[in-house]
Amino acid sequence: MIKIEKPDISVKKLFHDCIYNLKRENEKLLISHSIEELENIYKKYDEYAIENDLHKFDMRIDTETENIVGKLYKNKLVNPKEKARLYYDKIINYQKSKKASSPIKFNDEFRICPMCHTSEVDNLDHYLPKAKYPVLSLNPINLIPICSKCNRNKIDYIPNSKYDNLIHLYFDDLENLNWLNIEITNIDTLSFTYYVDKLAFEDPILYKRTKRTFEVFGIGKTYEILATTEMEDQIVNLIHFAQCSSKNEFQEYLLSFIKNHTSKNIWKVALYKELSENDEFYVLLNNTKYF
Ligand SMILES: [Zn+2]
Repeated sequence: MIKIEKPDISVKKLFHDCIYNLKRENEKLLISHSIEELENIYKKYDEYAIENDLHKFDMRIDTETENIVGKLYKNKLVNPKEKARLYYDKIINYQKSKKASSPIKFNDEFRICPMCHTSEVDNLDHYLPKAKYPVLSLNPINLIPICSKCNRNKIDYIPNSKYDNLIHLYFDDLENLNWLNIEITNIDTLSFTYYVDKLAFEDPILYKRTKRTFEVFGIGKTYEILATTEMEDQIVNLIHFAQCSSKNEFQEYLLSFIKNHTSKNIWKVALYKELSENDEFYVLLNNTKYF
């Protein structure tokens, strides 16, 4: 969960670029008369988000206009043949927060999902779902770039209280908290559970929200699969190294797997850190026969 820069997009321009070639004159007129009101609603959204109050967001506009806004998202913003698609692409090609030092890979080819850090961004998620909040369908600040797996897991999540507003990647910063932790649930079978570490948080609301986000997006499950696969790939190598070296040398070897990472909130970092601190793991490997 990495903080990213809010997309710098003029709502007025976005709406104009969505409606300039609309065939239905009445829809075009309705939207052009509502742009100011829509701008105002989107501005208010920011104020709710800053206060972690989005669960209370209830601003609306007449149903007909809302339905057109919903349609514009699908027919204009997402449609690669339309001018407005450039806004969709701009949001997908997000910039990480200037303050964030976390090691997110950037190149011209792809952006990694700022929610789970395991897949490529290929979706925009409506933070407040468009099914319940059609008026927000085109609010750039309600559109979050994530991967399709994260999007599938979240579906139409609706928060009910301050405690279950999901982490909003344009507003919330977990950068300085070592919140990701791992427990070895069975040393013999090398089974792991990832969890959000309560001890990392001073703010109980932020803890609950991070935990809820971790659960809703199925992040722990994804990390557990990656950690299990990593161990299957490395285990023969690790047994060999453990049996030829002292405990200290073995610890250093484990930490060398993560030497390029500066953030602890990465599945691989949590895994190798835990293994390097776990005496039972060294003993287990020393008592294992390998072929
Ligand atoms: Zn993801």
